Amino acid sequence: MRTDELRERERVPQLRLRVTAAAESVLRSGHPWLFADSIREQNRAGQAGELAVIYDRKDRFLAAGLFDPDSPIRVRLLHVGKPRAIDRNWWSERLTRSLEARQGLFDHQTTGFRWINGESDGWPGLVLDRYDRTLVLKLYTAAWLPRWEEIAGLITARLRPERIVLRLSRNIQKLAKHQFGKADGDILHGPPLDGPVVFLETGLCFEADVLHGQKTGFFLDQRDNRRQVEALARGRDVLNAFSFSGGFSLYAARGGARTVTDLDLSAHALAGAKRNFVLNATNAAVTACQHELVQADAFVWLNQQPGRRFDLIILDPPSLAKREIERLGAIRAYGRLASSGIEHLVPGGILVACSCSAHVTAEEFYDAVRGSAVKAGRTFEELQTTRHAPDHPATFKEAEYLKAIYLKV
Ligand code: SAH
Repeated sequence: MRTDELRERERVPQLRLRVTAAAESVLRSGHPWLFADSIREQNRAGQAGELAVIYDRKDRFLAAGLFDPDSPIRVRLLHVGKPRAIDRNWWSERLTRSLEARQGLFDHQTTGFRWINGESDGWPGLVLDRYDRTLVLKLYTAAWLPRWEEIAGLITARLRPERIVLRLSRNIQKLAKHQFGKADGDILHGPPLDGPVVFLETGLCFEADVLHGQKTGFFLDQRDNRRQVEALARGRDVLNAFSFSGGFSLYAARGGARTVTDLDLSAHALAGAKRNFVLNATNAAVTACQHELVQADAFVWLNQQPGRRFDLIILDPPSLAKREIERLGAIRAYGRLASSGIEHLVPGGILVACSCSAHVTAEEFYDAVRGSAVKAGRTFEELQTTRHAPDHPATFKEAEYLKAIYLKV
C-alpha cells in the first residue's frame, strides 16, 4: 500500500512544511532539493516516502515532494507551482516525459541506455537503465521504497521488459531489508538471473553485471566519449587507464587501434574486459588488435613505467572528490594524473581526460588538465571538451558531474 493511502486510512494529517525564505526562492527557481536545515516548521514527524507539502510564507502551496527523514536532503521535489494531485496519472505522465525525451536517440545497435536519470528527469533519486530486455531500477533514497510496487508496475506495463532488477544505494540497504523486505539485486519482475546481461552499445556487445556491478552494472554515461575514441584510434597504441570492463578499449579496437592496454585495480573488472573482447570476436578489427591487461594502481603504474609510450591515453578515474572539502585536493590530483598521462604520450599523441566528480566544475577540471600540458612544456591543441550525454541530462549544478577534455600534445 502507498504511504499516502495509508495516511488517508489512518487519518493522519498531511505532512506540511514551512521553509526559510532563501529555500523558498531556491525551490521556486527549480532546484529539486530541500535540505533539513532549511525547514522552519513541520507539523509532525514524517516517514520515508510520504508526500510532503511545502507552503510559502503567505500560506500558499509552493511545492510537493518525497520525504526522507534519514537524509539531509529531507525532501526531493516532485512538483513546484500550482497544487496538483500526485497520483497514478501523474506518475504515468512523468514516465511518458522521460521516454519521449529519448525518442530517436538510439537504434537497434544500442540496447543499453538510461531511460530515467533521477532529478533531471523529474524522478528524484531514481535511475532506470535498460540492458537489452532487462531493466535496472536503482534507488538512491528510501523515499521510493514504499512505492516500489507501484513504480515497477507502471514500468512493466509501459516498457514490457523481460525483467526488472532492483539496485539500492548502500545507505538505504538496511532499512530496505528491515522495513520493506527488499534487498540489493532483488528481481522485481520476471525470471531470476544468475549471471551478467549482454547488451549492445553502438553495435558492440558488452556484458553488464546488473546484480552486483558498480552503478547499475556498466558506465552507460561514457558512450559518447567512447564513440569519439573510436574515431581517434586508427593505428594507435592505446592505454585505457581505469578501464573497468574495457568499454573505451572495444571502441578503440574497432576503430583500428594497433594495441590496447587495459589498466585497472580490479581483477574482476579486467576479467570482464577480457570477456567483452571475446564477445566481439566476430569483428575483424577487434580480433586484429593486440589486447593487454594490467592489474595495478594506475597512479603508481604510470610512474613506474617511465619508458612506455602510447599514442592515445584515456584517463577515467573514479570520483576523486566524494565530498566538497576534497575539492581542491581533487583538482590537484586530476592535474597530477594528467601530467603522468602526458609524460607517456608520443609527440602527436592524444590525451582524453575525464572527471566524474560533481564537486569539481568543468572549468576547474579543464584548467587543471590544460595546466598540466603547459607545465610539461609541450605544445598542445585542444580538440574538444564534452559534457553529459543526452540520456544522462543534468538540470542543476549538483547533477553535473561528467566532463572530458581531449588534448593533442
Ligand atoms: N572508463 C570506464 C569506467 C571507469 S570506472 C568505462 O568506460 O566503463 C573507474 C574504474 O577505476 C573502476 O573499474 C575501478 O576498479 C578503477 N580504479 C579505481 N581506483 C583505481 C586505481 N587507483 N588504479 C586503477 N584503477 C582504479
